Amino acid sequence: MIVVMKEGATKEQIEHMIERVEQLGLKSHPIYGTERTVIAAIGDKRDEHRTSLESGPGVAEVVPILAPYKVASLEVKSERTVVRTGTLTVGNCHLGVIAGPCSVENEEQTLSTARAVKASGATALRGGAFKPRTSPYSFQGLKEDGLKILATARAETGLPVVTEVIAAADVPLVAGYADVLQIGARNMQNYRLLEEAGAAGKPVLLKRGASATMDELLLAAEYVLNAGNQNVMLCERGIRTFESHTRFTLPLASVPYLHERTHLPVVIDPSHGTGHTSLVPRMAAAAIAAGADGLILEVHPDPETALSDGYQSLDFEQFDETMQLCRKVADAVGKVMTAGEACPAPGV
Ligand code: PEP
Ligand code: MN
Repeated sequence: MIVVMKEGATKEQIEHMIERVEQLGLKSHPIYGTERTVIAAIGDKRDEHRTSLESGPGVAEVVPILAPYKVASLEVKSERTVVRTGTLTVGNCHLGVIAGPCSVENEEQTLSTARAVKASGATALRGGAFKPRTSPYSFQGLKEDGLKILATARAETGLPVVTEVIAAADVPLVAGYADVLQIGARNMQNYRLLEEAGAAGKPVLLKRGASATMDELLLAAEYVLNAGNQNVMLCERGIRTFESHTRFTLPLASVPYLHERTHLPVVIDPSHGTGHTSLVPRMAAAAIAAGADGLILEVHPDPETALSDGYQSLDFEQFDETMQLCRKVADAVGKVMTAGEACPAPGV
C-alpha cells in the first residue's frame, strides 16, 4: 500500500505515520517528493490495515500498489531517479555513455581505451576485472590487478569506473575500487549478491538476465533498493530467443515499457545485445531514439586480438563515429550527452 500524505503534511505527521506503518508489522519506505510525501507500506496487506492508516493525521489517501515490485514502481515514486557519479549522469535528459573494454587485459590496453573513449565523449569507463565466462577455460579476468588498472585509468582521465562484481564475497574488494558496481546478466537473480551490492553504497548497474522477464528484472532491482540503495540503473542487454543471427535479441521496447512502470533509468547495451560490431552503432542510436537514459558499449584498441568479446567491440574510430551518430539522435530527442551540460528548456 502507499500512504499518500496531504500537501503540507507536517514532519510530525509523517513520522507518526511511519511509526503506525511499522506498528502494523509492515516495512515503511518514505519517499520525500518536492510536493508531497508518500510512505510505501510493504508486507502482508490486509483491509483493516488500510482503513486504520486512512484515518491517520495528514493522510490524503491509502492506495494499493498493484505491481509485484513496490519500491521500484512509478506508483510509489513518480519522480524519475537520476544516477550521478563523477562525470556520469544517467536519467531525465542526461544520457550517460559508459565505454571501454569487455575485459581489462593490461594497463596499456585499458589506459589507451580510456583516453580514446573520453576524447570521443564517453562519461564513464567500463572494464571487467572479474569476468563471468561461459567456459571455465576462457580468460577469467585479472581480478584485483585489473581493478588497480581501472583505478589508474580513472586517476588519469577522471572517468568514473563501472566494473562487474560476480560474487557476494567480492563486494567489499570491488566496491573499494569501483564507482559503479555492475551485476551481470548471469547473476541477475543472485539475491545475496544483490543485497550485498545494494548495501555497499555505490550505484548499481543491474543487467537483465538473458531469460528474465521484465517483472523479474524489476524484482531483482527491488532487492538492491531494499538494501537502502536508490541509485540503480536497469540495463537491457538482450535476451535469448530462437533467432541465432544475433548473439542475443535486443528488445528496445524495454525502454518505453520500463519508463511506464519504474522511475529507474534504463541503459542499453548494444554490444552484448547484438554480438556484432557492425550492428552496434545503429542500435546505439536507436536506443536513444527509444528514450534510453544511457548506453554501455564495448571498445577495444584492437578488437581482433581481444581476450573477450572482440567480435562485438568497436575500435576507437568506430566508437568515435558511433558517438557522432548518437549525438545527432540525442539532439533530436532532447537528450544531453556532455557531462555537466544543462537540460534543454522544455519545448526547445
Ligand atoms: C559484460 O558486460 O562484459 C558482460 C559480461 O555482460 P552480460 O552480463 O550482459 O553478459
Ligand atoms: Mn563482454
